[in-house]
Amino acid sequence: MLRPMVETVKALGRKRFTIQYPEEKESLPDSYRSMLKLDMSTCISCSACAIICPNQTITMVEVPTDRGIKKMPQIGIERCLFCALCAEVCPPKCLTLTKNYEVLEAYDKREFIKRPEELE
Ligand code: SF4
Ligand code: SF4
Repeated sequence: MLRPMVETVKALGRKRFTIQYPEEKESLPDSYRSMLKLDMSTCISCSACAIICPNQTITMVEVPTDRGIKKMPQIGIERCLFCALCAEVCPPKCLTLTKNYEVLEAYDKREFIKRPEELE
């Protein structure tokens, strides 16, 4: 009976482990990988990212541009392993992994399929 009360009093003096999200943000390690980002203006439509992806997460889809229709990566982010192989093989380095984890929540799983325009 006494022990739980003692533990409760001790816990009151300890540092909090939780944060007031979203007002407070966790600090992330340098190696943290999250949502992908695409620079559509420099993508050369080579498909290297789609070919290397170990989880078949990337589909090349048609996008209208100033210079006609081009194929660029669409990403099913719910299948992404955040392995960064796609970013490593991308010749112009227009596909990168960011630390933005806040976009990885949705009510409908179809929202996880990101067209090239949504990756910019
Ligand atoms: S990070 Fe890995 S799993 Fe995710 S899209 Fe790129 S290659 Fe595929
Ligand atoms: S590897 Fe890079 S340049 Fe090639 S299609 Fe993918 S994003 Fe575009």
